[in-house]
Amino acid sequence: MRVLLLYPLFPKSFWSFEKTLALVDCKALLPPLGLITVAAMLPQEWELKLVDHNIQEITESDWDWAELVIISGMIVQKEDMLAQISAAKQRGKLVAVGGPYATTSPQEVESADFLILDEGEITLPMFIKAIEQGDRSGVFRATEKPAVTETPIPRYDLLDLNAYDNMSVQFSRGCPFQCEFCDIIVLYGRKPRTKTPEQLIAELECIYDLGWRGAVFMVDDNFIGNKRNVKLLLKELKVWMEEKGYPFGFTTEASVDLAKDDELMELMVECNFKKVFLGIETPDQDSLALTNKFQNTRDPLTESIDKITRTGMQVMAGFIIGFDGEKAHAGDRIVQFVEQTGIPMAMFSMLQALPSTALWHRLEKEGRLLNSSANINQTTLMNFVPTRAIEDIATEYVDAFWRLYDPTAYLNRIFRYYMKLGEAKNVVSKRPSWKTIRALSLLLWKQGVLAQTRWLFWRNLIQVLIKKPRQLEMYLTLCAYLEHFVEYRFIVKQQINLQLANYMASKPKAESMVG
Ligand code: SF4
Repeated sequence: MRVLLLYPLFPKSFWSFEKTLALVDCKALLPPLGLITVAAMLPQEWELKLVDHNIQEITESDWDWAELVIISGMIVQKEDMLAQISAAKQRGKLVAVGGPYATTSPQEVESADFLILDEGEITLPMFIKAIEQGDRSGVFRATEKPAVTETPIPRYDLLDLNAYDNMSVQFSRGCPFQCEFCDIIVLYGRKPRTKTPEQLIAELECIYDLGWRGAVFMVDDNFIGNKRNVKLLLKELKVWMEEKGYPFGFTTEASVDLAKDDELMELMVECNFKKVFLGIETPDQDSLALTNKFQNTRDPLTESIDKITRTGMQVMAGFIIGFDGEKAHAGDRIVQFVEQTGIPMAMFSMLQALPSTALWHRLEKEGRLLNSSANINQTTLMNFVPTRAIEDIATEYVDAFWRLYDPTAYLNRIFRYYMKLGEAKNVVSKRPSWKTIRALSLLLWKQGVLAQTRWLFWRNLIQVLIKKPRQLEMYLTLCAYLEHFVEYRFIVKQQINLQLANYMASKPKAESMVG
C-alpha cells in the first residue's frame, strides 16, 4: 500500500512567524508530530510519503503515486484540509482523515472515505483491519482513552529536518482542569496520561541521532498535569541532557500552578526548559471564575509570573477577551497586565466556542451560537453572541492588540523583562553556524539600520549584552519575532474590522435576544 500522509496548510496566525522564519531560513515552526506518530503505527511494510503543505507543494506525481491519502490537522487548518480532501477525491483516491478537527467536527469531513477519530492508538488498528479486509469506507471511534506507554517513536526520519525551526515531542495527553472553553479535555480527557521516561528519552535520542540540535517543543497542552510522573521524567532527562552536553532547549505549555512547585521549576531549568506558555486568559477574577479557570484565581497572577521568570524560564502567555459578564475596558486591563509583568509574547484572541466544548454546549442551549464556517484564530470575530456589544469587544481587541505590538512598546517590554529574567543555566557556547550568522546580519540590518526604532534597538541590545550576555540569543530571538508581529497586527486590524462591518450590516436577530 502506498500512503501519502498530508499535512494541511496553516493560515497566517499569531504563531505562523513567516517573516521571522525567513530570517533563520526555515519554512515552518513545527513538524506534523501527529502524522509522523500515525506513520509509526501503520504497518511498516506499507510505503509512506509525507507531504507537509506548509513546506512544499503537493505535486501531480505525489497524487499519482498514492493509493491512499491520510490527512490530519487542527481546526485552524480546516480550509486547506477540506480543499485537499476534495483534491484527493477528484483524483479518485481513497481518503482517510483524523486528528483534532475531524474528531470534534466529523460532520464537516464526511466527504472522506474513512474517519479515524479520537486517539489513533485505538482507532488506527480498526482502520488497518478494515483496509486489509477490503473495506472502502468506515468511521472508527473510541470511547476509551488509551495508555500512551505503548505509543511508538514517531517516524522523525520522514521529516525534512532543515525545514523546521523546532522539533516536537509529546510526553503526556490530557489535563486535570476544566476550563469551559477548552477542547483539550474533550479530546484527551481530564486524567493526564504520560509516557515513561525511557520512552520519551528514546524519542529524544532518535532526533539527536538524526542530527537535530536546538529547540524542542514539548507539545503537551499541560506538561505538569501529572506532577509526579513529570518529575520522574525530569530526573532522568537531567542526566541524559548532561551526558549529551545539553543539545536541546525546551519549550512547553503548563498551568499557572507551576509557580507553586519550586522543585518542579528547578528540575525544568536544570533540564534546559527555556520557555513556558501559560494560559492566563484575563486578569479579571470574575471572568476566570465564570469560565471555570479557578486555578488562576488562587494566587496573584503577577506574583506567579514573576516567580517563574526569576528561575530563568521565559513566560509566554495567552489572553482572551469576550467572556460573559465582562466589564468594559477589558482590553485595557489586559494591556496593563502585560506591561506590568513584561510578558514578551502575549497571544491575544477573542473568545471562540470550539466545537464540542462545555462552552459550545452551553451557548448552543442558550441559542447564542452563530453559524460560522470561518477558521478560528486571532483574526476571526467571535462565533457566538456575547453578553456585551460585540462591536465594543472587537474595538477593544483590535486596539489592545495594536498597542501590545507597537514596536516601541514591544522593544521596551522585552528589555524590561530580560532585566528581571533569572540567569540562564547550562548555556553551552558553540561556534555559530552560517545560518545563525545570516539570521543575525539580517536582523541587525532590518532592526538596527532600517527600522524607525533603531536607536532604541541598539540602546537595549547593548544593555542586554553587558548585563545579560548569557540571555543574548533568546533576547535576539524575541527581537526577530517583532518582524512578524508588526505585520500581523495590521492583518488583525484589517480582518476584524472587515468582519465586524459585515456582522453589523447583517446583525443577527439573536443579538437582540441577549441584549
Ligand atoms: S489548563 Fe489549559 S489545557 Fe487545562 S483545561 Fe484549562 S485551558 Fe485546557
